[in-house]
Amino acid sequence: MGQLGASGGALAIWAALAAPARAETIVTLTFDDGTEGQDAAGAVLAARGLRATFFVNSGRANGESGYLGWPAVAALSAEGHEVSGHTITHADLSVLDAASERHEICDDRAAFVSRGYAARVLAYPYGRYGTDTAAIAQECGYIGARTSSGLRSVGGCFACDVAETIPPFDVYAIRTPGSIRDVDGLDVIEGYVTQAESGGGGWVTITFHRICDGCGTLSTPLPTLTAFADWLAERVAAGTVVVKPFGDVLGGPEPAREPPPDRPAGSGCASGAGAGWICALAMGLLVVRVLGRSRKERT
Ligand SMILES: [Zn+2]
Repeated sequence: MGQLGASGGALAIWAALAAPARAETIVTLTFDDGTEGQDAAGAVLAARGLRATFFVNSGRANGESGYLGWPAVAALSAEGHEVSGHTITHADLSVLDAASERHEICDDRAAFVSRGYAARVLAYPYGRYGTDTAAIAQECGYIGARTSSGLRSVGGCFACDVAETIPPFDVYAIRTPGSIRDVDGLDVIEGYVTQAESGGGGWVTITFHRICDGCGTLSTPLPTLTAFADWLAERVAAGTVVVKPFGDVLGGPEPAREPPPDRPAGSGCASGAGAGWICALAMGLLVVRVLGRSRKERT
């Protein structure tokens, strides 16, 4: 009996070791294009302890109508969300030459970095990229990039995988279900999470665009997003999923951000006794540095 008990114990241990460990399901919520209304989505998520990633076009954040400006982008970051690049003008990278791709990707990323954002990850506009795009994204300093398809979707690929692998097969072509459409109800959005959970876990990135009611084919009403956030927060609390910003999955927690230099006009220099000449001196040094740098770049 003792002999049987010992071998039974050994079998149990072997079975435990041999059983595949259930992989965790990581959910990343991404919002593309920095459209007005996404600030409300950021607040809804932050109130529930959910941190998302906002892929913003720096050219549009400079003041284009209908898009969040830099102060609103900074507010999303202050809520704990990740902010990263989506090219300057929302360019279709698959049709550009290498120099234009470099401009759209590198100069866009530089606009975020100069404001203190880590800008670790890129989302390809329209999910499209050319044969040289991944190498250029890497050259520009991005550690990975997101497409907007490749996983099983209600409106697209029925035979695709239900989740991206961790680490991804291709970090510069990370797969997602198709972007959430205006016809996708709460059941569809929740389904992208539960199909990954029941399919053995992995990484599911959900791609939202406009947050408004019936304002385009790629839009989600705020009440639907709020209901999804409530449902997702419950699953996080229950331990069935983990929600992380996109760059955190690839590169760990985001480093602390420098305060953005978005100040009201005229407040660049502090007022007060003695502050004026210190500021003038600092501005003079800055001008000399910038002039020196642009002279170097011209050569
Ligand atoms: Zn986009």
